[in-house]
Amino acid sequence: NQVRRDAITAVAAAVPPAYSFDPGEEPGAIFGENVFSLSVMQKRLPKGVYRSVLATIEKSVALDPAVADAVASAMKDWALEKGATHYAHVFYPLTGLTAEKHDSFLDPVGDGTAFASFSGKTLIQGEPDASSFPNGGLRNTFEARGYTGWDVMSPAYVLENPNGNTLCIPTIFISMTGDALDHKTPVLRSQQAMSTQARRVLELFGHTDPDNVVAYCGPEQEYFLVDRHFYDARPDLINAGRTLFGAKPPKGQEFDDHYFGAIPERVLAFMCDTERELFKLGIPAKTRHNEVAPGQFEVAPMFERANEASDHQQLTMTTFRAVAKKHGMECLFHEKPFDGVNGSGKHVNFSIGNSELGSLLVPGDTPHDNAQFLVFCAAVIRMVHLHGGLLRASVASASNDHRLGANEAPPAIISIFLGDQLADVFDQVAKGGATHSKEKGTLIIGVDTLPDLTKDAGDRNRTSPFAFTGNRFEFRAPGSNQTVAAPMVVLNTIMAEALDHCATVLETAVGAGTDFNKAVQQLLAEIVADHGAVIFNGNGYSDEWPVEAEQRGLKNLRTTVDAVPELITAEAVELFGRYGVFSEREMHSRYEISLEQYILSVTVEANLTLEMGRTTVLPAAVRYQTELATNASALKEAGLEPDLGDLQVVSGLVADLRSGLAQLVEAVGHEHDDDALVTATAIRDGVLPAMAAVRTAADALEGVVADDLWSLPTYQEMLYLL
Ligand code: ADP
Ligand code: MG
Repeated sequence: NQVRRDAITAVAAAVPPAYSFDPGEEPGAIFGENVFSLSVMQKRLPKGVYRSVLATIEKSVALDPAVADAVASAMKDWALEKGATHYAHVFYPLTGLTAEKHDSFLDPVGDGTAFASFSGKTLIQGEPDASSFPNGGLRNTFEARGYTGWDVMSPAYVLENPNGNTLCIPTIFISMTGDALDHKTPVLRSQQAMSTQARRVLELFGHTDPDNVVAYCGPEQEYFLVDRHFYDARPDLINAGRTLFGAKPPKGQEFDDHYFGAIPERVLAFMCDTERELFKLGIPAKTRHNEVAPGQFEVAPMFERANEASDHQQLTMTTFRAVAKKHGMECLFHEKPFDGVNGSGKHVNFSIGNSELGSLLVPGDTPHDNAQFLVFCAAVIRMVHLHGGLLRASVASASNDHRLGANEAPPAIISIFLGDQLADVFDQVAKGGATHSKEKGTLIIGVDTLPDLTKDAGDRNRTSPFAFTGNRFEFRAPGSNQTVAAPMVVLNTIMAEALDHCATVLETAVGAGTDFNKAVQQLLAEIVADHGAVIFNGNGYSDEWPVEAEQRGLKNLRTTVDAVPELITAEAVELFGRYGVFSEREMHSRYEISLEQYILSVTVEANLTLEMGRTTVLPAAVRYQTELATNASALKEAGLEPDLGDLQVVSGLVADLRSGLAQLVEAVGHEHDDDALVTATAIRDGVLPAMAAVRTAADALEGVVADDLWSLPTYQEMLYLL
């Protein structure tokens, strides 16, 4: 087939673009070059103004509007020096994408000239027309205004473009009524709620007036790279981000020869280029390597405060897409671009702490520190047990449904892996308090006599969705395409609840005269007794686990449709309301939007399946069928007995394909119910199986139809040719 042959020829000839790295350059010289960072502010702002901004960042003091003009003016000068012509308020609508509205710095003065201006007011607040962003019923279109507000905690930066640079200002996005329309607002709110409760616990442990506690997030991003020539020949990749057709290649990932192998040269050039761009933006990219599936890779930055990490994560994805294009490739973030090989996740490494105390989820040097550590760990156990459903809901999407529970990613059951050492400690706590660490002798529990805990991360359990890894927990269920903000909001909020519980129990006990050590011990024992069911150190991919999980009362929310209703249970609404993270309206809007997005994305895929099935797969199959039939009659005419086996196979599959398409037409044609959950359920149960039927027939045809009639690039080509 000409299309595929041309693509293969072009791929073979691909040369990475010239790379701008100067070997003499000092490492780190470009880091943060395009960021209006604290150090830039310190140099450029009057002392008082700088101190005021710093107080906002470090101590969460509200931004003094009086300083905004000074900051704006310094920011503008800096940006103009960096070649910026425009500024943009960057926000994070509920599509999960990044949105930006650009405005020119130039203001006409009235005499035919223009003047670069940028006031404090423009810095602090923007007013994009927001009517086409999802709002889940929060905003009437006649009142389509949305407001963006500068998030002082996340630094502004200049984004380079050959046609002129842009000053980007990370902002929250809210409606006129103050409802959150974005992912950033709740991160900030939940962050604050968590900090308040964490500080209460810290005070009980004798820290007077501790600094704000923040959530840290280290997101590991998996992705696929595909050459653009193949990508352009696959309407499914272009429109849905994943292949809707494609037979398994003869060689999949079973050899495990790609994982951590040498990085292909073309990919390495891409990685170097992306890192350079990320460094300029102050994004601390740290590790890069091949992933399990062929054509799959990973990048992970150093962890940062959740708010910044989340903005940086979005920017990382944008950068990867842009740089891939420059290198003649396409970067795929879909959770399951190719059936039959591993999909992509985005592990969210989560901890809480501050610069004064470090991570609060790391065992300390003294028994006292370890008691504190155990309380924070116990809070995590409680939160995951009570609110696993919310965690599942925070990573629910049509695309992530292909991954969770598919024996390559953690199951949809949210459990917690503690590792041997910690599991053992909690085990002992549960057994009445007498405790000893695994390798040491018996000790009587009490804050002063807690065992030494080694800081060894211990063994790894790759099958757990929520694993303790030595100084943090790794939430492995988020999808590669998702924003980390959604899980971070849930993590912060449920952490706030669990810490609130711990603080209250301890305060009450101490107030009633109980010895603090004893109160801690009782609290830990109570949490293990009430919530120990969520601890699971076994194989999460096994067939036995779902059965056992059910006996333990853990939820198994297999699909988005099962998971999203968790957002609007009375309990959830009360919880998010109590900590000021979401109002009931906001929860409902998020619920609606999640379902809308699900319906939209499956419907797009279904229509594409129909189109490609009819216009690409069926014609190829029918042509081949005709070829075989013509051959058979020619043989007959020549007096030979034709073997009709192939023709029968192809005809059978063509019939299957036709009936699959008919089934899909009917499923897609179902009228949508007013209730989004009803529609989403119907789509899951009707459209998805029909799509699968079409695909089964089409993929089987790919294996028998003459190769020169097949125009869709094959898995083999897309996964192995880079
Ligand atoms: P692995 O592949 O072993 O899970 P990686 O090095 O790929 O580890 O990624 C680990 C991620 O966890 C990095 O982003 C790292 O910065 C982050 N991380 C490390 N310590 C913490 C912590 N205390 N809190 C949050 N994230 C952390
Ligand atoms: Mg990793």
